[in-house]
Amino acid sequence: MAAANNMRNIVSNEILVKENNVQWDDVIGNAAAKDALRKTIVLPVEQGRHFPVESVLLFGAPGTGKTLLVRALASQCSAFFFQLSTSMLTSKYSGYKIHLLKTLFDMAKEQPSIVFLDDIEMISTCEHDNDVVISQIQLEIIRQMHQIARDSAAHVAIIAATNRPREVDSDILELFTARIHIQFLNIEERMELFKKLLEQHGCNVLTENEVKEIANLTTDYTGSDLALVVRIASIEPIRDLLNTGNWEENTSRLRSIQTRDFYAALNETKPSVPPDEIKSFYTFSEHCCGDG
Ligand code: ADP
Repeated sequence: MAAANNMRNIVSNEILVKENNVQWDDVIGNAAAKDALRKTIVLPVEQGRHFPVESVLLFGAPGTGKTLLVRALASQCSAFFFQLSTSMLTSKYSGYKIHLLKTLFDMAKEQPSIVFLDDIEMISTCEHDNDVVISQIQLEIIRQMHQIARDSAAHVAIIAATNRPREVDSDILELFTARIHIQFLNIEERMELFKKLLEQHGCNVLTENEVKEIANLTTDYTGSDLALVVRIASIEPIRDLLNTGNWEENTSRLRSIQTRDFYAALNETKPSVPPDEIKSFYTFSEHCCGDG
């Protein structure tokens, strides 16, 4: 009893996300993914129907906004939101892991919930013994997902995400009939993200053409790469001011951000995902989702 309560506390403290204010509008682009999640999960909730039992796999390069999207989904549905970091499953004893998973799913079934299994490929690989023994963790997840699908009282949507879809075990992959490719942002979406980020930094002074000019130079940058570019660019005016001498006297003379700051930032960064890897997501999409 004490051990069960203890495990509930661990799930409650380390897996249940209590603060989550991400909104749909915070996620730029990804229109097809948003639409699919809206239709399958948000709409039934808004229309007062039962919280749908769904299982969706999001795959795509790291930093493309998969986690952000799931967080927006969870806050949109006002569901309990359990986010399982796979590191919790790789570092502990097998009995502990199974107990943790059982408790997590038991707690999720108590009310409408979204369970987010991030880096799902780790669950496929973490316990493989020479590719012969299927991991207990994997079996437990499969068992839990089948149970939820059969349990008419359970209202749990399971969203998994992976940056390495090819490494997801085929038995696990089969559980997710809906597979959504989270793609890179197009030029208009990159412009939108740049403007949003500049606003957040309180320095949205570039013209439309200047934003376009910078967005044009960042084709293979992920959302997270773009956020880094803006962070570095926004430091440039401070660097300049520091170089002029006495910071205390000069703070009021902090200049606005300019396109040259972005050129400096782009010199310091490069896209975090190589072109071959970007292509590989499209190939996976063709094979496993029937599209490109
Ligand atoms: P992933 O889960 O795909 O690795 P994240 O959701 O963790 O990526 O994104 C990391 C960060 O990059 C976000 O917190 C956000 O600042 C930025 N980002 C990435 N994609 C987007 C996007 N489509 N819209 C807005 N911000 C984004």
